[in-house]
Amino acid sequence: MSDFHCHACGECCGPVACTRAEWEAIAAYIRANGVLPVARDGLACMLQGGDKFCMVYPVRPTLCRMHGHVAKMPCPNNPAADFWPPEVEKANADMLPKLADAVWLMDPNTYRSAGIPTTTMELSR
Ligand code: SF4
Ligand code: SF4
Repeated sequence: MSDFHCHACGECCGPVACTRAEWEAIAAYIRANGVLPVARDGLACMLQGGDKFCMVYPVRPTLCRMHGHVAKMPCPNNPAADFWPPEVEKANADMLPKLADAVWLMDPNTYRSAGIPTTTMELSR
């Protein structure tokens, strides 16, 4: 098994989706830790901090955990990383959100509908 450790450069953080169950854990973490999602232009994930580090790292979605461990999701910072065995990769892929019920972490409405403030206007209201 790989001994690769993500060093949180943020290169792989983009338009990412998670399952409802993952979102519940992320929302709870945001509330418990006072995380402030950052509204951005484009499709960047709103949970990346100014230092590029994931603000919900302990509860980040499966999709994010797969980078650097799956052949189609290489980590540019560690091209020599071992990949997961196919059965592990498949088990993780099976946990990915289906399009119909995916929760999108770059969409301000995701946070708004959960009553979570972001760095948009709702903070100053
Ligand atoms: S998986 Fe790689 S590209 Fe993504 S944040 Fe970690 S070190 Fe950076
Ligand atoms: S949840 Fe964290 S690791 Fe995943 S894309 Fe967003 S900032 Fe990056």
